[in-house]
Amino acid sequence: MKRNIKISGSVNPKKYTILVTGIFDKIMAKLDFAYSKEIEIIFYDSRKSLDKTLGRSTENWEVAFASMGNKENKINILNPERMEKFSCHKKTEFASIITHELTHLVINDIANGSAIPVWLSEGLSNWLCQNNDYRKKELFYIETGLLEKIGTPKGWEELINQNVYSLSYFLVDFIINRFTLVKIKELINNLDKHYYFPRFQKILKSILGVSSEEIELAFVKYLISQNNT
Ligand SMILES: [Zn+2]
Repeated sequence: MKRNIKISGSVNPKKYTILVTGIFDKIMAKLDFAYSKEIEIIFYDSRKSLDKTLGRSTENWEVAFASMGNKENKINILNPERMEKFSCHKKTEFASIITHELTHLVINDIANGSAIPVWLSEGLSNWLCQNNDYRKKELFYIETGLLEKIGTPKGWEELINQNVYSLSYFLVDFIINRFTLVKIKELINNLDKHYYFPRFQKILKSILGVSSEEIELAFVKYLISQNNT
């Protein structure tokens, strides 16, 4: 399989190329998808240098940023050796963090650059991480019309303090269990270039055979069953 991962920054490039390539191969095997674009990964030694590149001041929990498109597919990330100094994450979380970001790139390619509902992109990226803490979060309140709300960046930001990353993980986990990973891929592959919820509902119905309301109701039932086990 052809893969082209370029690593820069003050880390051991050989060590990290082997590590990241191994992780990337696992993602592609799991998603059964061949990604062939070049990926650039840049490690930063401080929050300040990362912020300078991104052009904004980032939060303590934000450590890696994927940008994707036809021109470049890039991940800006804090050097794992500096992770604990400049964030609330541990060095040992590197594999999970890079898995999450690489999955974003792969999903974007499956979607052919179409706009992906935020919950679907974040949820699947979390789902691909081997050991994650998303299952441990307590989700007591679920918004009515959840799929619509957490589909757009605006709605996602509004609910960011309500464990949306964890919620999206469970939502994707539920859909995979109920409809299979192949169906999730098919859904991503059939999205419109421009995301608009009423259109998305139609695509959802044509691929999974159910409405967004049915998904939400079944999802809450699933959450309840998860808590009971
Ligand atoms: Zn993400």
